[in-house]
Amino acid sequence: MSVDLGTDMEAVAEPTGPDFDLGEGHRLIREQARALAAAVESLATEADASSELHEPMRAALAASGLAGHVVPAAYGGRSETLDPLAITVIREALMYSSAHLDSLFGVQGIGSYTLTAGGSEELKRHWLPRVVTLEAIAAIALTEPGVGSDLRAVQTSIEPVEGGLRVRGRKSFITNGGAASFYCVLGREGDGYSMVLVPADAQGLTAHPGDDLIAPHILGELEFDDVVVPAGNRLGVPGKAFSLMLQALAVFRVSVAGSAVGLAQAALDEALAHARSREQFGAPLIELGSVAQSLALCWTEVETSRAMAYRAASLARTDPLGHLDFSSMAKVSATEAAGRVVDRAVQVMGRFGLVRGSKIERLYRNARPLRIYEGSTEVLLDSLARRLRKAAK
Ligand SMILES: Cc1cc2nc3c(=O)[nH]c(=O)nc-3n(C[C@H](O)[C@H](O)[C@H](O)COP(=O)(O)OP(=O)(O)OC[C@H]3O[C@@H](n4cnc5c(N)ncnc54)[C@H](O)[C@@H]3O)c2cc1C
Repeated sequence: MSVDLGTDMEAVAEPTGPDFDLGEGHRLIREQARALAAAVESLATEADASSELHEPMRAALAASGLAGHVVPAAYGGRSETLDPLAITVIREALMYSSAHLDSLFGVQGIGSYTLTAGGSEELKRHWLPRVVTLEAIAAIALTEPGVGSDLRAVQTSIEPVEGGLRVRGRKSFITNGGAASFYCVLGREGDGYSMVLVPADAQGLTAHPGDDLIAPHILGELEFDDVVVPAGNRLGVPGKAFSLMLQALAVFRVSVAGSAVGLAQAALDEALAHARSREQFGAPLIELGSVAQSLALCWTEVETSRAMAYRAASLARTDPLGHLDFSSMAKVSATEAAGRVVDRAVQVMGRFGLVRGSKIERLYRNARPLRIYEGSTEVLLDSLARRLRKAAK
């Protein structure tokens, strides 16, 4: 499919309208994303059950041009710098339809952002235009078999050697692992931490299929067995990888809140349609007991999550790092709310909510990882709590 992307960037310069809704430019972007989501709705069950790259989804995302929103204009993208609000509304629309599609879009962004922010001109010119077209699939490799939230404990090493930089170690639970064209890899270098871009075909790199999740996901386990890449593949300043990763999180964390809002909206819509059409005790479910109240609570949580996600994303447009706390709050509140909303939706649908292969069952499973990746709820609350303690001193 092909969507005319037009020239909406002038309109995007105004982030919000007077009614605290999206401005015209972002509404247009949302329409484009919704058009893509609707066009691939029939593929969603199959794609979301797959732990391999779903080629028709990749082709549809490529044809939509939406991946241009995760790369700067200088390298074929849509805007001079990345726009977290645009990325958030796109993820909301895509997740409404398919978690596979949402992940494909989102990880083209977070998987390539340390390259965008810290790569050499030559490296960016080589990879980023292909990220836009999805000829290249991006990935970011931080987690290790023994290291999750506490990334300062990573064991992978990056070391200057004759002929470039040597990478040794293992990475685990890497989205797009095995399907990616390149990996932005975190490792120790001396007393600090560094990042390096490793092409998928580098000698000594092996990708194995990852675990089979309750919410299937393209996951790989990576082994770096004395992989040597050119020194020009370094990302950012040696020893300063945490500030580079922080830049990536500052742009992309809030977009996970967008995904959560899209999923919660889909769950609410499913449950509402069911409650209107199914009758018990001679009346539609929505007329019975607390069913309507339960749905009203879902609606309230969807709208409050959306308002917070858009606000945090709007703040991130001008100063992503300065507003990272708001992105964390948006991610925590929207992903936790999505869990509650989808659980209530299943309850409203009774036994039909439990049927394997139904949309609500898929949403129920797909909601779960949102609270774990890109900063688990507890780890984000911990960082917010630290800020409060510091502010109190
Ligand atoms: C679908 C999926 C895709 C992923 N994709 C990628 C990827 O592309 N690249 C990548 O590098 N990684 C990826 N990951 C890994 C992900 O980033 C980690 O799962 C995440 O960082 C949490 O680490 P962990 O699972 O090892 O949990 P742990 O760190 O072991 O945490 C377990 C529990 O303890 C809690 N906890 C941990 N520390 C604290 C603390 N200080 N205070 C309070 N509670 C705490 C956590 O909140 C959690 O509830 C992915 C994971 C999933 C599920």
